[in-house]
Formats: sequence, C-alpha cells, structure tokens
Amino acid sequence: MDDGKIKVFTGYRVQHNMWRGPYKGGIRYHPNVDLDEVKALAMWMTFKTAVVDIPYGGAKGGVVCDPKKLSKGELERLTRRYTAMIMDEIGPFKDVPAPDMGTDAQVMAWIMDTYSSLKGYAVPEVVTGKPVELGGSYGGESATGRGVAICAREATKHLGLSLKGATVAVQGYGNVGFWAAKILHEMGCKIIAVSDSKGGILSSNGLDPDEVLKYKKKTGSVVGFDGSKKITNEELLELECDILVPAAMENVITKDNAYKIKAKIISEGANGPTTPEADDILYNRGIFAIPDILANSGGVTVSYFEWVQNLNRDRWSEEEVNRRLEERMVKAFNDVLEISKKEKVSMRTAAYMLAISRVADAHVKLGLFP
Ligand code: NAD
Repeated sequence: MDDGKIKVFTGYRVQHNMWRGPYKGGIRYHPNVDLDEVKALAMWMTFKTAVVDIPYGGAKGGVVCDPKKLSKGELERLTRRYTAMIMDEIGPFKDVPAPDMGTDAQVMAWIMDTYSSLKGYAVPEVVTGKPVELGGSYGGESATGRGVAICAREATKHLGLSLKGATVAVQGYGNVGFWAAKILHEMGCKIIAVSDSKGGILSSNGLDPDEVLKYKKKTGSVVGFDGSKKITNEELLELECDILVPAAMENVITKDNAYKIKAKIISEGANGPTTPEADDILYNRGIFAIPDILANSGGVTVSYFEWVQNLNRDRWSEEEVNRRLEERMVKAFNDVLEISKKEKVSMRTAAYMLAISRVADAHVKLGLFP
C-alpha cells in the first residue's frame, strides 16, 4: 500500500466452458465479489458468446476490493500481482479477460503490460477493452449500447411498430444507458425519460442525450436537467412508452411491478434486470422482452473484434466495426426470434435454447478425450 504496509487481497478466475473457443469474460473489482458470483457470471458468458455465435467460451474474474478507496498506484500493483498469479491460466488462445464493474481500459493496459513483460514480447491479444493506443478497438465504448438499440429496432420491425417517434425510457445513464439512448435517438426515437442512482427525469417533448450527458458530467446527475420533471426510478419503469431499456442494476423488474409495466418492448442493457417470476408475467402480458444475453452482447462481440484485429496486427475503422456489429446483432436477434416463434416460447427461453444447443453440439462433435 502507499503507506508501506502489506495487504493481502483475494482474487478469482473461473473458467466455465471452452468447447466453442477460448474462455472469455470480464474482471470485476468490488467489495462483494465472491466465488459463487464469479461462477454464475462465468456461466452467463458461455451462453452470451454462444447466442451471438462468436468463437469463445465463458469465464469471469474478480478481486475483493473497493477500487474507489485505492490510489492509482495501489490499483496498479494489485492488478499486476493478480495478473502474475493467473499468468498460467490466461492467454490469447486460452482465456481472454476484459473489463467489468470497477475495472477499465487502464486496468486492461496493466494486465497486458504485466503479461507481455513476463513473456518477453508484446501480447495485446491477451486482454480486450484496452485503450485504443494499445490496440483497443474503435467502437468499443459504444458497442453494448449500440447492440441494445439494434435489438430494440429489430423488435419494432417484428411487432410492426414505427421506430420513428417511438418513445423510449432508459434506466441508468452510464456507459450502456447513454449509448443506447444516443443511438435510439439517432434512429429517430424520442427519449422521454432517463435516470441514474440519484433519480430520473421525464420530458414528454423528448430529451437530447448529448445535452443530458453534458449536464450529468457537470452536476453529477441527470436530475434537474432543464425542462424536465423529476421522477423516481420506480416510476420510470412504469411509464407509458414503446421501448424500455433497463441499463443499471439487476432485479429491478420483479413480480411486484411487472404488472404495471406499460412498455411494448424491453431491451435489457443490464445483466439480470428481470426476475424469473417477472419474466413470466411480462410474457403472459404480451410484452416483448429481449433478454440480456442477446440484447447486451454487443460489448463482448466488439471484444472479439478487438482480439481478431490484435491477432492480425490490424486496425479496423469505426465504421467497419459498427457495420460488422450490426450484421452479427441482427443475425443473433433473428436466430433467437425464429426459435421463439417455432417453439412458441419467450425470447429469453429461445435465447437459452439456442445457446445451450450450440454449446452442447460443440461438445458432442468434440467427443470425449482422454
Ligand atoms: P456504469 O457504471 O457506466 O453505469 C451505471 C449507471 O446506472 C449509472 O448512471 C448509475 O448512476 C446508474 N445506477 C446505479 N444504481 C442505480 C439505481 N439503483 N437506480 C438507477 N440507476 C442506477 O455501468 P455500465 O457499464 O453502463 O453497466 C450497466 C449495466 O449493464 C450493468 O448491469 C452491467 O453489468 C451491464 N453490462 C455492461 C456492459 C458494458 O459493456 N459496459 C456489457 C454488458 C452488460
């Protein structure tokens, strides 16, 4: 530590599946990290990479710490030690970490540097979500929100709704929420409400996502934005709107409020925003919910693009990345939709049917050895 004391931190790396390709998943720095959570998140990654059909398995990592209470130097030393401890478990063809809660491009740069220093040559492809200067991909920052928006757009087509003028409410105005709002706005939607941990804002005339972001950067919250009315996060979820994007926390749509949701489409930016009981209620009420493992898979898809560019010592333009992301997301959406129609199940059940069958098929074809 900066004061010269030695402190021991506990860290994990869980590798859930590698039948379809190298293990893949983020690293979380948070005080509540525990082995069960990391295991669950690793499994989630296996199914997410299978739904979008990118050649990866699933993994996740975590260190029990509060990154907000560590200095930059402490964070760097913790990251380098963690990397050294899992050095033999990760690698470009074995297990490729990425950012998650509490970690960012800088942390990925330290992982790359530690791994490369110990190998003796630069290995950018050992980790994704790096700064652009070190081989990070253009379009990485907006990727998850873009995927959320693309899925919502495809859903309006499927339901025969007009995207132009469609009303949108977004819970959580961080990386995913902002980009989803911005891209849906560019597609012609009207963003009527957004929120953050301090509360929400509503404007029936529509909000300008860039102006709201500027305001949030200046004041620390979206609340108080000019011409808007303050609402609670609970009220936001229950607004009359066409598209609802939960992009903050898990378990916000529950059996207690699922009956009150009026949106026609839900595109899940956050991981696990809907409880299983709520999911049944939404399905029975005819609300079209696009599950997290499909809707927010744009991030891991561009992570895959970053890895491919690094392996080829290549760099794609932002337009190229966005074009390829669009193609993959539309394909994944339609693959899931087809199963949901054929089997008469929700999009979530269909996404799991597709993911599990892809993982299982890979295993059957690989066989058992040794
Ligand atoms: P972030 O930290 O950038 O933003 C989170 C936002 O949610 C912030 O605006 C914060 O104020 C708000 N928030 C926090 N608590 C809240 C509460 N109780 N009510 C309402 N708003 C609240 O995080 P992010 O990267 O945008 O991730 C958001 C969600 O999306 C998480 O569930 C994450 O796991 C998931 N996700 C993110 C990515 C990605 O690429 N960033 C990929 C897949 C899934």
